[in-house]
Amino acid sequence: MNALHDPAPPLDVERIRADFPLLARTVHDKPLVYLDNANTAQKPAAVIEAVDRFYRETNANVARAVHQLGEEATAAYEASRDKLARFLNAPSRDEIVLTSGTTQAINLVAYSYALPRLQPGDEILVTTMEHHANIVPWQIVCGRTGAKLKVAPISERGELIVDKFVAALTPSVKLAAVAHVSNVLGTINPIAELARAARQRGIPLLVDGSQAAPHLPIDLKALGCDFYALTGHKLFGPTGTGALWARKDILREMPPFLGGGEMIREVRFEGTTFADPPHRFEAGTPNIAGFVGLGAALDYVEALGRERIVEREQALLEHATAALKAVPGLRIVGEAAHKAAVISFLVEGAHAHDLATLLDHEGIAVRSGHHCAHPLMQFYGVPATLRASLAFYNTHEEIDRFVAALVKVRQFLL
Ligand code: PMP
Repeated sequence: MNALHDPAPPLDVERIRADFPLLARTVHDKPLVYLDNANTAQKPAAVIEAVDRFYRETNANVARAVHQLGEEATAAYEASRDKLARFLNAPSRDEIVLTSGTTQAINLVAYSYALPRLQPGDEILVTTMEHHANIVPWQIVCGRTGAKLKVAPISERGELIVDKFVAALTPSVKLAAVAHVSNVLGTINPIAELARAARQRGIPLLVDGSQAAPHLPIDLKALGCDFYALTGHKLFGPTGTGALWARKDILREMPPFLGGGEMIREVRFEGTTFADPPHRFEAGTPNIAGFVGLGAALDYVEALGRERIVEREQALLEHATAALKAVPGLRIVGEAAHKAAVISFLVEGAHAHDLATLLDHEGIAVRSGHHCAHPLMQFYGVPATLRASLAFYNTHEEIDRFVAALVKVRQFLL
């Protein structure tokens, strides 16, 4: 048989779980079931060791020193940019700005791209399902310029209504900003289709990829958007790391966001000239060790294979959805046809926070609350949901334990 056509074997989950030291711990004397991956993901030993090794063997500042350590630290930090460019299939490494996370990436676009361009009467288009990080920065720059936020609606099932989104792309819209995957509903938005419509009208599209980058193959050349933001800690890397990808021609026109060291060409009291992108947007000492760790995380995910991750997580999603639907009085919020492994739900007669607290006593970590998506909660008319968010290292047995525990703790609240 032709080896090229052999399907990749499925992931060896027991071996993978052994790579994540934290998964072996107990909580309240019960084995941990970690189902809060959309909040932050656990880290493989390869990431923890890369950060540890950096501080033990390489630590120095980047882009400043000519000594050996400085060169090694700079090379390690810059290697993370290369890895991100490959991971995203970005046209160029110079289009990757390293940030502290998605929040900083979106604020960079808001302040450096949108703020200088917006005028009274202009609009920024978002959707009902956005995280606060993809709402509030736009509101702030709208407030400063007299522009307005416009919202594309979703259906009750939690799908973006594409026709309405496209109809909302009117000439007054100067930028559209959409989540690739909703952190509450799990909905996977049809980014290539949205980008095509925006491009035809000359409107740049920003994609919040926080929840997509850890779970889907990302091909920026195929997506066709103009900005893509992601965060490292959900991608099995350290906190305080992330990236903004933007087209080179757009980045070149963007003025600096933060000023300081590293981002300049020459400083005189009469005036300063700035470095080219991406360094123009990386003022000050970055989270060097964090990016070394993020590089290790990307290597880890690539070695597993993103197609295999999708396959595994879809199987987990299917299993969890069916098991939860069998619980009387439980309603899943977000039933899009295309979903990542994020399940929000409500249980009749029980408050989400109470259930999450009781589940914690069973060793089960789920999130309860508004998930930084107040407008989405308002759309569904609820103050909070419970959310189980899965990763490739979760198992069918863990899901069964979670659902059994949910049924058990619910009795206490009835
Ligand atoms: N957007 C989405 C969809 C998210 O889920 C999150 C994190 N919950 C963010 C943005 C913000 O990411 P960070 O806090 O890492 O900047």
